[in-house]
Amino acid sequence: MVWFKKSKKPKPVVAVRPRSQVPEGLWVKCEGCREIIYSKELHKNLMICPKCGYHFRISAPERIGLLIDEEQPRELFAGVSPVDPLKFRDTKPYKGRLKQYQELTVILAVMEYRFMGGSMGSVVGEKITRAAEEALRRDVGLVVVSASGGARMQEGALSLMQMAKISAALARLREARLPFLSILTDPTTGGVTASFAMLGDLNIAEPGALIGFAGPRVIEQTIGESLPEGFQRSEFLLQHGFLDMVVPRTELKQTVARCLRHFH
Ligand SMILES: [Zn+2]
Repeated sequence: MVWFKKSKKPKPVVAVRPRSQVPEGLWVKCEGCREIIYSKELHKNLMICPKCGYHFRISAPERIGLLIDEEQPRELFAGVSPVDPLKFRDTKPYKGRLKQYQELTVILAVMEYRFMGGSMGSVVGEKITRAAEEALRRDVGLVVVSASGGARMQEGALSLMQMAKISAALARLREARLPFLSILTDPTTGGVTASFAMLGDLNIAEPGALIGFAGPRVIEQTIGESLPEGFQRSEFLLQHGFLDMVVPRTELKQTVARCLRHFH
């Protein structure tokens, strides 16, 4: 809450928070329907507006908590993968049993929008590449949740090179017939959209997410036409074949699990 002094009588004005911030106040104004929501209620509802379904942006740790069963945390690099030297078999071959237990294991990479707009510099590129290589090594699928303004300009061409590097790692994953699910959240733009975010075996978006390469103003100026309503939002992109699914946050985990089971 801020006080806005224009006339002699000060009028209270609700401060609109930057979209990238997770609201911490008691009350939050919804970006979608402009209603005032009780913050606790919003958090309980996975940061989805209970009135209009608007998906607020969430942080990478919140996202991980949402997608992974906390009862079964799996530590990365915790051990060695099992082999089947005895060609063991009871009612089922050991190899098949292992596969059955491994099938819902994935490598999950989540971009953090709060860190410089989720921009992709060398480190982001390296980590996603390593995530893909780790999935390959472990013979499991890869899930990447994108939230990014695009390549990080401060690292110039080095940022752009990440697009090719990650794409090459994903191609190796594809050769090994391992699934890659790309989850696009608000916003996914620029070089991230132009590379790995759109290379998923399935490209899944959250409702209302801004997804595109260049901003609408740049496009309008370039083509000299005004853009249709809902342009660059998940639903529009789904309709025009750029996405495979638009999935509400509440159903994301189950959908990802179902898709991974299907691919294995
Ligand atoms: Zn709303």
